[in-house]
Amino acid sequence: MKFIFLDRDGVINKDPGGSLYVTSWEDFHFLPGSLEALKSLKKKGYLVAVVSNQAGVGKGIYTREILSKITENMIRAVEAAGGELYSVQYCTHTSEDNCDCRKPKAGLFKTAAKGLNIDFSKIYFIGDTKRDIEAGRAIGCKTILVLSGKIKSGQEVEGWEIKPDIIKRDLFEAVEEIHSRDSLPGGRSKLSP
Ligand SMILES: [Mg+2]
Ligand SMILES: [Zn+2]
Repeated sequence: MKFIFLDRDGVINKDPGGSLYVTSWEDFHFLPGSLEALKSLKKKGYLVAVVSNQAGVGKGIYTREILSKITENMIRAVEAAGGELYSVQYCTHTSEDNCDCRKPKAGLFKTAAKGLNIDFSKIYFIGDTKRDIEAGRAIGCKTILVLSGKIKSGQEVEGWEIKPDIIKRDLFEAVEEIHSRDSLPGGRSKLSP
């Protein structure tokens, strides 16, 4: 089963920066190459699941309806570009809610993969934050940090206790790397001993 998890802001679309949120479709801007990357994932048979914390809803900064509208538009734009999103899962809680879905917890991942026979250890999670990498590790995925969002340099990772398996500039380069590893004999990682 070819399956991949992606964070949204900072991976697919431009992170609004700081502690800001994407609060309207007008604020949603696809990052360069992300639509092409999603198209190539579909072409190679990947099911793409988006898992995203959107605590701005829980904080009352924007509504669930606005988030749904953004999601509908995102799905349509991805499809118009030849890609497909299999599942889009959000946690709209705040950290004080102590839910089971806010990353780095596993809830969103489990919901997205529900009913599928997926070996998490064989699939990738691409994110742009320390929390994403911790979440990916917690569920046992291979993790890729992209430098197109909150983290701008690989050097920032040096102090992290849990480090990403791979660091790439953006989603496009991350997906190219995955495709190149897929094409190796036996699907072995280039980095395997
Ligand atoms: Mg992000
Ligand atoms: Zn939650």
